[in-house]
Amino acid sequence: MEPHTGHYKRTVEFSKDAINVFFHILTRCNLQCAHCYINPEQHGRETLPVDRIQRWLDAFLPGEREVNVIFLGGEPTLHPDLASAAAYARRAGYASVTIDTNGYLFNNILDKTTPAIIDYISFSLDGATATTNDAIRGAGSYKRCIEGIGKAVAKGFSTSLIYTVSTANICELDDMTDLVTDLGVDRVFIQVLGIRGRSGTGESNTRGKIARVSKRQWESVVPAAAQAMAKRGITVTYPKVFLSDGEKFECAGLVAENYFVFPNGRVYRCPLCEDFPIHGMAFENDRLVNTPRINETDLFCLNIPEGCVMNRLVQPGNISYGPDGVPEYRIACCMLKEEVRPA
Ligand code: SF4
Ligand code: SF4
Repeated sequence: MEPHTGHYKRTVEFSKDAINVFFHILTRCNLQCAHCYINPEQHGRETLPVDRIQRWLDAFLPGEREVNVIFLGGEPTLHPDLASAAAYARRAGYASVTIDTNGYLFNNILDKTTPAIIDYISFSLDGATATTNDAIRGAGSYKRCIEGIGKAVAKGFSTSLIYTVSTANICELDDMTDLVTDLGVDRVFIQVLGIRGRSGTGESNTRGKIARVSKRQWESVVPAAAQAMAKRGITVTYPKVFLSDGEKFECAGLVAENYFVFPNGRVYRCPLCEDFPIHGMAFENDRLVNTPRINETDLFCLNIPEGCVMNRLVQPGNISYGPDGVPEYRIACCMLKEEVRPA
């Protein structure tokens, strides 16, 4: 605990007690966000039928550990059977069920499910103002997301908010404290812009330039914003990104059980691998099988001075080297998080 600030901050170790299933049930979406990481060429274009969703959910059960599912898309509420899939997950024994949404809440999803089934509805918003958010996520998306949060809170759902930090919106992160407090959001997840999907190809810039912030900008803005929200009673999680001297590097692909499932049957263990056909597992005839080597699993074992191997391969621009050629810091696993909790 840090008594002078009145909140708790801790690095969240990879959970050795839980299995997390990030289930993309379709890739279709009504928006075209500048930083969208969904890549239909690699992830498929189909909308998974509900009976197949059920069989794939079954593949992770029963676990000796708790199993959590996060339904994602594309926009998962565009799936007409999302409520039914969520209810099935709960009945089948999933310990928690989360829906990530852009806030449009299609198919009257709030009327078809209940807070007893859904632990969290997680809304993506990338600005404290419509001007900033809509420049990234599309015209009208701020208003719809704010309305969506209001409706979910009014119906008694627990809500969280995902804010993806980039050069286009870091200036408004401080202003989010008042907004999330007013909205009654329970948790905030601050994300770092990934160099994947649209943001990796530069295709994003139909909506204006968007890029990762520097290490200095990240460190000067994000932890302080998280603390400000925690003071208002909101738990905030953000990626560690940069490791300090002496901090342990671990690859979640080796020590944790996270599964990123896509409609074409690919199953990845590392989100940074998702733009490439190197998935370590796949659904074949509704059975979860290991794919032939070489695949992402071989990369997890490589021990390099830069820390995360995939980061070194796909986004080396965030590493800097001293005159001796040694990295000045290591990049943490993208799934290693800092958590700031209210006291
Ligand atoms: S980031 Fe999410 S809401 Fe935006 S286009 Fe991609 S899937 Fe849709
Ligand atoms: S982000 Fe890096 S460290 Fe984390 S699972 Fe992927 S390869 Fe491993």
